[in-house]
Amino acid sequence: MSGKVHIDPVLGEVQLRKSARARRVSIRVHPVRGIVVTVPYYVPYALGVRFLESRREWAAAALERARTRNAELPEGESVDTLRAQAKAALPPRLRALADRYGFAVGRVTIKHNTSNWGSCSSKGNINLNLNLMRVPVPLQDYILLHELTHLRHPNHGPKFHAELERLLTDHFAENAADEAFQAFLPAIHASRARYPFSYTLERALKAYRPV
Ligand SMILES: [Zn+2]
Repeated sequence: MSGKVHIDPVLGEVQLRKSARARRVSIRVHPVRGIVVTVPYYVPYALGVRFLESRREWAAAALERARTRNAELPEGESVDTLRAQAKAALPPRLRALADRYGFAVGRVTIKHNTSNWGSCSSKGNINLNLNLMRVPVPLQDYILLHELTHLRHPNHGPKFHAELERLLTDHFAENAADEAFQAFLPAIHASRARYPFSYTLERALKAYRPV
């Protein structure tokens, strides 16, 4: 990836990037890095700038929202701190779970977005959201096991859910002495859902949202 900086009269500093993988011009808004416009390799930067200018109002509003959300983070939890913590903590934890439950993971990348907690590519690479540092460990593990399960089932079909539930059951049994895990057990045992572990943990996760 290569890039340059463009100064927009309203939006300020804008990062322009070229990407070999991009298929179209896209705009991303980040509370700390600001606005990033990515263009496919063969597209001139000027087209990216024009595209941004056609959506300037939207971008200004999105930037404002992103910065407000970032300001809502508790003291000491800037995105940069969370990223550093996530880089140190999450890949080793994912690899430990992968070893324990027999998965082969490719690349592990820490991402910052508000749309998902994690994702798994068809090549076996896993992205994890740095916001996972804001949730309790059992919920972190729930997401990590979810992404690992995608290495076997790249969908959310019945086999995926059955496998994830089996892993969660084993994992909670392994951590039975840990109070953080114990805290979820009453709700899990009271649940009449088909997959009580997944259902209960997914619901608990709703109390948090990626910012
Ligand atoms: Zn999934």
